[in-house]
Amino acid sequence: MRAFEAVNLYFQRAADQIELSGEMRELLVMAAREVQVQIPVDMDNGHLATFVGYRVQHNRARGPMKGGLRYHPEVDLDEVRSLASLMTWKTAVVNLPFGGAKGGIAVDARKLSVIELERVTRRFVDEIHDVIGPDTDIPAPDMGTDHRVMAWIMNQYSKYHGFNPGIVTGKPVEYYGIPGREEATGRGVGLLTVKMLQRLKRRSEGATIAIQGFGNVGSHTAKYLHEAGCRIVAISDSSGAYYRQEGIDVPGALRYSMQNGHLLRGYPDADIITNAELLELEVDVLVPAAIGDVITAENAPRIKAPIIVEAANSPTHPDADDILVERGKAVLPDILANAGGVTVSYFEWAQNRQFYRWNLDRVRGELDRTLSSAFEEVWDMARERKVSLRTAAFMLGIGRVARATELSGLA
Ligand code: NAD
Repeated sequence: MRAFEAVNLYFQRAADQIELSGEMRELLVMAAREVQVQIPVDMDNGHLATFVGYRVQHNRARGPMKGGLRYHPEVDLDEVRSLASLMTWKTAVVNLPFGGAKGGIAVDARKLSVIELERVTRRFVDEIHDVIGPDTDIPAPDMGTDHRVMAWIMNQYSKYHGFNPGIVTGKPVEYYGIPGREEATGRGVGLLTVKMLQRLKRRSEGATIAIQGFGNVGSHTAKYLHEAGCRIVAISDSSGAYYRQEGIDVPGALRYSMQNGHLLRGYPDADIITNAELLELEVDVLVPAAIGDVITAENAPRIKAPIIVEAANSPTHPDADDILVERGKAVLPDILANAGGVTVSYFEWAQNRQFYRWNLDRVRGELDRTLSSAFEEVWDMARERKVSLRTAAFMLGIGRVARATELSGLA
C-alpha cells in the first residue's frame, strides 16, 4: 500500500463515522494543486546535477496552506501527496487557520556541500515562487531541511516579491524566526506523552520510554520527558540504537551527538541494540520519531509498549495499526502527536504579519494550551464514539474542513 492510499484509508474510516457524503469525500481526498519541477544545479566538482522537486497543495478551505519541505533521496510525488493531506487534517485537529501542503526534493542533503544545498534551495524557489506566498502556501522545515534553508527561501522569494518574512516559518530566531520553534515538535510530543500516561492512570515519574530517532523531534522529546521525570531507557538514530535499563543520561547523549556530527555512533554509556529491537522493548511508551512505516504487520504483534506516540509522520502501516488497536494499545496519531511544530509555525507567521516579537514563555504557554485542548477534544471524541484516537482525530479534522468548505461555498 502506498503512502497516500494509507492516509486515505484512515480518512474513509473517519468519514464513515461522521457520515460524510460521497461528493465531499471526493473533493477532500484530491489535492488542490500538484507541482513538479526540475532543479538543475552546478555542483562543486563542475558537473551538472538535475534534481526533482515537488510542492503539493492539498486543501485551502481553512486558510493559507502550510507544510514542510523534505530533502530526502526517497521523496516522490506519492509521499509528498500523502504528507500534504496529513497537514490538512493536522492543522484542522489543532484548529489553526491553515490548510495543508507539503513539498520536497529527492536529494540526499547530507551529501551536498553547504553551497550546493543553498544552490538547490534557491533554484527550487525560482521554480515555485509563483505558487507559494504568505497568504497562499507557507513552507517550513522537515527532514533534511533546517533554519538555514528557510532563511535562503525567504531571501530568494523576496527577490521576486519584495520583503516578506511570513513566506516561510522555521527561520533562524535572529532572522525573523520565533523562540521555541526548534523544540516545538518534541516539546509537544513530550507534553502529550505525559497526558496519555495521566489519562491511562500511569505515573509519568519513572515511566520507561524508548525513542527511535534522535534528530530535531526525537532529541527534544527525550529532553522534555527526561526533565519531566521519565526514564528514557533507549534512544536511536540511523547509526544504531542504545539501551540502558537505569536510564540514558539524556543531556550527555545530546552533547555527544552534537559533537559527533549529530550522530550517536560510538555513544559509550549504553548497550548497543538494533533499531528493530528498540521497537519491541518492554517499556511504558514507544515513540517512533524518525521515518515512516517502521511499525508493520510483521513486528506489530511483538510490540510490548501499551502506549505508542507517533512523533514521526506515518510511522505505523495501516495493517499494523489494526493489529495494535486489536491488542488494546493506545496509539496517539501523528496528526495530533507531532502538531507542536506547525502550531509554533503559526505563531511565527502571526508574529511576522504583525512585526511583533513573542518571547519563549508566551510561545510555550500558547503551545501547551493549544495542544492540551486538541488532546481533550480527541480523547473525548474517542470515548464518546468508541473509536481509536486516530479515527477520532481524523473525524475532528475532516469535520472542520468539510464545514469550512460548505460555509465558503464553491462558486
Ligand atoms: P531529523 O532529520 O532532524 O532527524 C531524523 C532522525 O531519524 C535522525 O536522528 C536520523 O539519524 C534518524 N533516522 C533516520 N533513518 C533512521 C532509521 N532507519 N532508523 C532509526 N533512525 C533513523 O528529522 P526530524 O525533523 O526530527 O523529523 C523526524 C520525523 O518527525 C519525520 O517523520 C518528520 O516528518 C516528523 N516531523 C517533524 C517535524 C519538525 O518540526 N521537525 C514536525 C512534524 C513531524
